[in-house]
Amino acid sequence: MHRVVFDPGHGGVDPGAVSGAAIEKDISLVIALAAADLLAARDDFYIEVTRETDINLNLELGLEERVDFSDRQNADLFVSVHCNAMAPGSPANGFEVFHYYGSQAGNQAASDVFKALEGKVPEIAPRSVKEAGFYVIKNTQAPAILVECGFLTSDHDRPNLESPGFQQKYGKAIAAGILQYFGV
Ligand SMILES: [Zn+2]
Repeated sequence: MHRVVFDPGHGGVDPGAVSGAAIEKDISLVIALAAADLLAARDDFYIEVTRETDINLNLELGLEERVDFSDRQNADLFVSVHCNAMAPGSPANGFEVFHYYGSQAGNQAASDVFKALEGKVPEIAPRSVKEAGFYVIKNTQAPAILVECGFLTSDHDRPNLESPGFQQKYGKAIAAGILQYFGV
């Protein structure tokens, strides 16, 4: 049984990046749930999600709680889902997948998800697999990745990321990369 914890970024009073009507917490939630549902339908995966709704102030999941949740689930892989943003008008676009510095398993998972996105989500340009020290990928016991799905500030990425159909497709692509990582 492969145990995966999905972590839709932000939520509640923390919207994450906002660009026009596009709000990171909402988009990351739909994409993460799409990936989670797909894997949860299989009998070889055990799936948990740090938040399944737009959690309100009292239930706000801080970064520490997200890590503790993953550790309590004894996850084999932690997948945080976010959307990027730059200053309005910035031309930056594309997706990137992060893992913690020096994590071999993290690098493998990040590379597998990156390749799946490259193949299945051609609408968003590939940037690269990167190392970083973000709290959630640093502190989970499980190998961890953080997917920045695209730039909400990009006139190219935003219309795709706002599309419900595209969000489902994006979640499926992340799931495909995770299947690749586990070799199933
Ligand atoms: Zn974020």
